[in-house]
Amino acid sequence: VSEKQTLGFQAEVKQLLQLMIHSLYSNKEIFLRELISNASDAADKLRFEAINNDALYENDHELKIKVTFDKTARTITISDNGIGMSRDDAIEHLGTIAKSGTKEFFSKLSGDQQKDAALIGQFGVGFYSAFIIADKITVDTRRAGIAAAEGVRWESAGEGDFSIETIDKPTRGTDITLHLREGEDEYLSAWKLKSIIRKYSDHISLPIVMQKEEWDEEKKETVLKDEFETVNQASALWARNKADITEEQYTEFYKHVSHAFEAPLTYTHNRVEGRSEYTQLLYIPARAPFDLWDRNKRGGIKLYVKRVFIMDDAEQLMPVYLRFVKGVIDSSDLPLNVSREILQESRDVRVIREGSTKRVLGLLEELANSDDQAQKDKYTTFWQEFGQVLKEGIGEDAGNKERIAKLLRFASTHNDSDAQTVSFADYIGRMKEGQDKIYYVTGESYAAAKNSPHLEIFRKKGVEVLLLTDRVDEWMLSFIQDFEGKELASVAKGGLDLGKLEDEAEKKQHEETETQFKDLVEKMKSALTDKAKDVRVTFRLTDSPACLVADEHELSGNLMRMLKAAGQ
Ligand code: ADP
Ligand code: MG
Repeated sequence: VSEKQTLGFQAEVKQLLQLMIHSLYSNKEIFLRELISNASDAADKLRFEAINNDALYENDHELKIKVTFDKTARTITISDNGIGMSRDDAIEHLGTIAKSGTKEFFSKLSGDQQKDAALIGQFGVGFYSAFIIADKITVDTRRAGIAAAEGVRWESAGEGDFSIETIDKPTRGTDITLHLREGEDEYLSAWKLKSIIRKYSDHISLPIVMQKEEWDEEKKETVLKDEFETVNQASALWARNKADITEEQYTEFYKHVSHAFEAPLTYTHNRVEGRSEYTQLLYIPARAPFDLWDRNKRGGIKLYVKRVFIMDDAEQLMPVYLRFVKGVIDSSDLPLNVSREILQESRDVRVIREGSTKRVLGLLEELANSDDQAQKDKYTTFWQEFGQVLKEGIGEDAGNKERIAKLLRFASTHNDSDAQTVSFADYIGRMKEGQDKIYYVTGESYAAAKNSPHLEIFRKKGVEVLLLTDRVDEWMLSFIQDFEGKELASVAKGGLDLGKLEDEAEKKQHEETETQFKDLVEKMKSALTDKAKDVRVTFRLTDSPACLVADEHELSGNLMRMLKAAGQ
């Protein structure tokens, strides 16, 4: 038995609490969505652990979420009979923020409430959002399988600290009681709570129950009965018919599975039949998460087998370059006791991954090729947020390389901005008569690429050049040599062969100039013996006196700079 202990919140939690109370005040009813979302996750986790250990049910197999309120005590309680928390779980999960990159995230906050509110939305809000309307929260919880005497009470006023003590808790799971702040009494109403549940949590697959109400003639008011009723539809959303699901339900479900706050950019929902049977409901977020580049981050796809939750972040179900995709895949074929190891080898999983990859690429193609400007704009947003990640697919997914190449967008000398909007097809449509290559230049930045002396001759001849300045570009270029039969050619490599873009008179003039400068070139070569491999007369420059070029088969100047910077 341990005494009541008081512990401090992690610094980031304190900051989050402050921010949340101020910035989300206008949207405070979402606290209920967040607590129900957690209760549903807890039930999923119990069901999964119980697959191999039925005793965890403690003879109570009916998983549900109960929402009650007490007008006199001014409290609302959200109860679940899910997995529950041990003392260590409670300290860890309700006292710190587990997400990696949290520090960096908080260092980006500006102090401007409106801007920070948008950022916080991207971060996800979760449990702590309950402090928007509560000035004290009591969490009574017991992990399934642990003795009744080892329940835990966690309590906090949402300021600097929380207390934790051991309690007796006969039933497994978690009861979260919110002690309402002054002025928040509107939530002490069955009608209000039900309408919030229907609005945000209808998609939850467990029953969410509340006490029935009855009109009392004597008291002249509605009174609560001991009988409970289910408030939501209580069926897995992805298993329902598309026609029966509203846009709002799709959006709220997305917020639940992805722990997000904003609506997604787009989604695709299909039941796949045939060799492998599964349902996929996949979303593309509207904004890159702050930890997009963290390879260890919590991933996007939840795996279910016949509606039973199996695992979060089933990375085998989606290739790494589509790691931004969120959603659910529910297989009818996999065994319930499937492990990550089995997933790695499974033929069914390979089929699902391939099918899902094609779906996502198809979804992106629909946006990119749409005649509808709103859809096109969505692709622009997608590209800004996730374009650099999609580029990894050129190297990672040989089978879909051509489809991915069509989805690429670049900055170009055709435009006067660094916006990446030009596709290979756009470029080819503007190629000059006699031009047979797609020209590009790589650089550390848009400014560096745009001002590269290598572009001078192309400007003079009016030939467009793609400007590639993302870190991933050099790597990507090593996997793509051409697009629809047109070779990709760096303007900064090798002897510049402009092919038919050069006319006879120019060729003759070039030969004469070369003869004329032969002596000078020889002198420069001997002066630069150790520094340059070769010295040539060039016609690629119109204004600059000289430039450095890489050999056809050597690393480009830009890549060498990058490797040097990385200490190679
Ligand atoms: P998230 O849901 O994104 O993980 P939250 O702030 O909503 O973040 O919740 C933090 C963590 O607290 C959860 O991941 C979970 O481990 C734990 N938790 C919260 N509510 C419950 C609950 N009802 N039952 C069991 N664990 C819970
Ligand atoms: Mg949550």
